[in-house]
Amino acid sequence: MADRDGVIWFDGEMVPWREAKVHVLTHTLHYGLGVFEGVRAYKTDSHGTAIFRLKEHTDRLFRSAHILNMTVPFSKDDLNAAQRAVVRENGLEEAYLRPMVFFGSEGMGLRADNLQTHVIVAAWHWPAYMSPEAKINGIKVRTSSYTRHHVNISMCKAKANGHYINSMLALKEALDSGCEEALLLDNEGYVAEGSGENIFIVREGKLYTPELTSCLDGITRNTLFALAEDHGYEIIEKRITRDEVYIADEAFFTGTAAEVLPIQSLDGRRIGEGKRGPITEKLQNAYFDAVKGRGNFRAEWLAPVAD
Ligand code: PMP
Repeated sequence: MADRDGVIWFDGEMVPWREAKVHVLTHTLHYGLGVFEGVRAYKTDSHGTAIFRLKEHTDRLFRSAHILNMTVPFSKDDLNAAQRAVVRENGLEEAYLRPMVFFGSEGMGLRADNLQTHVIVAAWHWPAYMSPEAKINGIKVRTSSYTRHHVNISMCKAKANGHYINSMLALKEALDSGCEEALLLDNEGYVAEGSGENIFIVREGKLYTPELTSCLDGITRNTLFALAEDHGYEIIEKRITRDEVYIADEAFFTGTAAEVLPIQSLDGRRIGEGKRGPITEKLQNAYFDAVKGRGNFRAEWLAPVAD
């Protein structure tokens, strides 16, 4: 990853990929206090290469920084322009983008008060998070033995670097047990989210998803609310138990990386027919139309990278 051509936007300048380096005493590397985004650009039918819901991702990045008391030393417009430029200057038709705000190496220790806040935006080609078959057949999921963050431990509305220790422990456990993703429960035992996705279930034609208490306010989740409304489906936000997932007709994950991903089984219990259900399929197709600027897409969701 570190050894490749291309450029990374680093504190306002395009820096050659190999030279975009930090010191080993970078504060965020030690304590995990930093915030980031996962954003995607698609080759669209209508707008050339366009970043999907760029504004919403940048807004969330700033909210995350605000929660963690970090002041982003650039404006939202600067970072939106930087994200478009990084895709363009790396000649990418489709891309995964990684904006990150982190503390530098000016000081060490929890009490360091002279830290500079740095910002990077990298972009690279990252075709699919899972195998292409997973989009049709779904994935096997296991309930994690790790509890998802609690609101008064780490504050779930921030997409913070350190939060992902919990995600990676859960994911490794799931992969080691022959599954493809973990489902994390909150501290009271209710369904929270995947290691990097929100979850929806379908029962008797209605969709349900956990309230935002212990899960990230996902932009794909938000997109699904709009798409479901377009298709006449109601989405109810409520507490969900793991056995409600077992007996759901359909279940799927949503996320910028995972997109709309059917869940085949949870803890060895087949969900519905054990493959992508009809409502999941409809909303998955609607999602791909939206990101690729096809059919009834919303132009305001697409930020063309072209100047
Ligand atoms: N939950 C977690 C823990 C995540 O990391 C992500 C990915 N950012 C999501 C949910 C989905 O969020 P989004 O749809 O904004 O990518």
